[in-house]
Amino acid sequence: MKIGFPRALYYFDYFPFWAGFFYRLGIEVITSPPTHRQIMEQGLKKASDETCLPLKLMAGHIQALTNVDAVFLPRMVSVEENTYSCPKFLGIPETLLPAVPLGIPVLSVVLNWRKSKRQILKDLQDFGIQLGKNRTEIRKAFIEGQAWQKRYEDSKGAGWDFEDSLREIERATKGLTMSQSTPIHSSIPAKDKDIDRLRISLVGHSYLTLESYANLDILRRLREKAEVELTEHVNQEEVNAHLLGLRKKLFWSHAKQIYGSGNKFVKDPQVDGVIYLSCFGCGTDSMVQEMLARIAREQHKPYMVVTLDEHSGEAGLVTRLEAFLDMVERRKIHEGNVSTYGERLDRDSNTL
Ligand code: SF4
Repeated sequence: MKIGFPRALYYFDYFPFWAGFFYRLGIEVITSPPTHRQIMEQGLKKASDETCLPLKLMAGHIQALTNVDAVFLPRMVSVEENTYSCPKFLGIPETLLPAVPLGIPVLSVVLNWRKSKRQILKDLQDFGIQLGKNRTEIRKAFIEGQAWQKRYEDSKGAGWDFEDSLREIERATKGLTMSQSTPIHSSIPAKDKDIDRLRISLVGHSYLTLESYANLDILRRLREKAEVELTEHVNQEEVNAHLLGLRKKLFWSHAKQIYGSGNKFVKDPQVDGVIYLSCFGCGTDSMVQEMLARIAREQHKPYMVVTLDEHSGEAGLVTRLEAFLDMVERRKIHEGNVSTYGERLDRDSNTL
């Protein structure tokens, strides 16, 4: 059996779990190709106009899955205790149904970590009946999926590289076994980093910051001029530590990660500037980007919000990036200098 898995949205965070799960069941997982123009255009035709860019991309990727026996669209209600996924994640099996190629069935299961582990296993076992697998096989697959996901999560942190991690997972799903002892990532040794280069942090949803087609290759552009840190480079303890002080807990999983890591970057004196990569139509972004903007203002940290949609143009992005990096560089060089008028240059500058 070949199951189609769209290379969008939850692919960036939870693919290892599902890859391990299906691998253990002997089911081949086929992913759609990396995003290209046709995928984007197809997605725009099938998704609602008002929805966010990542969901439109998801619709395009679903359509690209033509050579499979079924398309897998899980309903990821919650991926950790006391949090929820964005409501748009929850509706995917229904809202994106028009994007599924004609004649291909959809397989779906609820994954809700707000329930007990026993209940999750039961939901998966009920789903297993559709796959022709018994309860024991599903239990073993669940354990395997969790192990793959844990190794993926553990590999995050300084120097983590998404492409390397995913390449390793995809190799493993094709039968080349993944070493149990080696973490699934190759890190950039700290000594190789140039300490004189600018340090810029790029925060945002993984399916935007790591989606090079949709984000107009912002990561590569930044890396040409600066050391770049991402939300995924901050470990969970640090994220949690930087959530303390909030008057009310954030209950969207991605919003928590983005706020926690963004708060850390904004307060880190080694970080020269922070860029928030947001997308038009995202409710959680509209709140979190403003919360981070306020802290950035207090900390006098250069901060810029880049909002993407399907009409984002390369020229506009390049101009904004260059202006921001120039400003950050000038500020870094002149920080603390006292002008002939007795004023400190750049001390209070901060772009928003
Ligand atoms: S969190 Fe924002 S970007 Fe992500 S699916 Fe929800 S609305 Fe879209």
